[in-house]
Amino acid sequence: MRPLLVGRFQPFHNGHLWLVSRIVREYGSIIIGIGSAQESHTLVNPFTAGERQYMIQRTLESNGIHDFYLVPIEDIYRNSLWVSHIVALAPPFDVAISGNPLVKRLFQEAGKKVIEPEMHGRETYSGQEIRRRIAEKENWKDLVPPEVYRSIQEIDGENRILDLAKTDEVNK
Ligand code: NAD
Repeated sequence: MRPLLVGRFQPFHNGHLWLVSRIVREYGSIIIGIGSAQESHTLVNPFTAGERQYMIQRTLESNGIHDFYLVPIEDIYRNSLWVSHIVALAPPFDVAISGNPLVKRLFQEAGKKVIEPEMHGRETYSGQEIRRRIAEKENWKDLVPPEVYRSIQEIDGENRILDLAKTDEVNK
């Protein structure tokens, strides 16, 4: 069985790595859909699809995971067609793995097998928490694999998020 994991990975963190490692141990390979691929340079989606692809690829290779396929997937404004959109873009898959309620529902309604994964340190291993810590200049290094930390440094990602959090309005 070939599994598909779709996520925004803004950014890819230790919880994602833990999940991908478990999936690859169980199924031997994984397809990773990089969702909201059209998004970047916002506080919710600071990194481009290419930057996220780079972070994930470097991390998985450093962790000895080589049997993976990365597929950027843009959002579409019709949830009922989203799974067909993925099927048209991704290599064939038999099971979708997701803890996201909307994602699970859309795959189930499209007749796909869905597995809900266990969570690993969800309170801190969370994209939202990492982006918050970066914006508030708190320590976030320990929440991501070293390759992701280095990639974000390389693209000046911390300053990007700090700039995105600013405004030029006088009365905030
Ligand atoms: P995410 O990066 O938050 O999570 C990716 C996966 O990792 C999820 O299954 C999540 O449950 C799991 N995960 C997160 N933290 C974890 C942890 N600590 N331990 C273990 N597992 C953990 O991404 P997401 O929000 O689920 O991404 C869904 C994507 O699908 C988005 O890009 C969204 O826009 C897209 N989408 C698009 C449409 C559309 O275009 N119509 C519809 C539905 C979803």
